[in-house]
Amino acid sequence: MNYDSKNMKFYERGDVAYLTFPAFEKYGFVRHAFSTRIGGVSENAFASMNLNFGRGDRDENVTENFHRFCSAAGFDYSTLVASSQDHGTFIRRVGAENRGTGIWKPKDIKSVDGLVTDEPDVTLVTYYADCVPLFFLDPVKRAIGLAHAGWRGTVAGIGAKMVKTMEREFGSRPEDLVAAVGPSIGPCCFEVDAPVYEEFSKLTQLNPRKFIVQNGGGKYHIDLWEANRCILIHAGIQREQITIAGLCTQCNAQWLWSHRASGGKRGGLAAMMCLTEGKA
Ligand SMILES: [Zn+2]
Repeated sequence: MNYDSKNMKFYERGDVAYLTFPAFEKYGFVRHAFSTRIGGVSENAFASMNLNFGRGDRDENVTENFHRFCSAAGFDYSTLVASSQDHGTFIRRVGAENRGTGIWKPKDIKSVDGLVTDEPDVTLVTYYADCVPLFFLDPVKRAIGLAHAGWRGTVAGIGAKMVKTMEREFGSRPEDLVAAVGPSIGPCCFEVDAPVYEEFSKLTQLNPRKFIVQNGGGKYHIDLWEANRCILIHAGIQREQITIAGLCTQCNAQWLWSHRASGGKRGGLAAMMCLTEGKA
């Protein structure tokens, strides 16, 4: 496997492969990574790097995968704090007291689709398999966030809600934020019927023609990457501060988990991000 793009870098550390954004890597006080299917111990439909509990894989395999992924990508397993995603827009501020949640401690909240923190050594973890990962960094206030934006979360504006939350919680200024849209189902593959199309066409403040293509026959293609970029710009982030991976999970289902490509019998990808140093 060899992937080459200016927007994301592909790393292999031992058996484990993962992706990062150069736009985030240039800051020395934050670490982040997006997983692939490569380098885990899970088998069959979950082969091999499955980072989702509760989809039918053995918990001990998922735990071992977390350990392997963390040691390859440079995270401390004991600091992981996971989301609890249900396609909502609730964003949780977490800190040291939440370490382990959803990984080696039980989940304690049902609906969490976004995580933010300004504490070092608290690793945010969110899950994907076609849905859109959104990464946020405020290099001025030293705060970070991850959000899960499926089509519902995208339409509901979880990206804008992340910006608002970082403003409220950390005093972030939208124009300082660095953002990235990670690997997810692309405009090439995300075909929808009229009900989903209608939800996107209601986003009139964003000029929906930028992210909706009508195919005829009641079918439409939605560009979730562009929709999220429009939402983030509308929320005040500067266009040049937003990176789009441009990597489609369904087109690359051999090495990225895709819900649509697998018919739902699949493992899951994870985004992780952690501040390694606090405020200067
Ligand atoms: Zn595709």
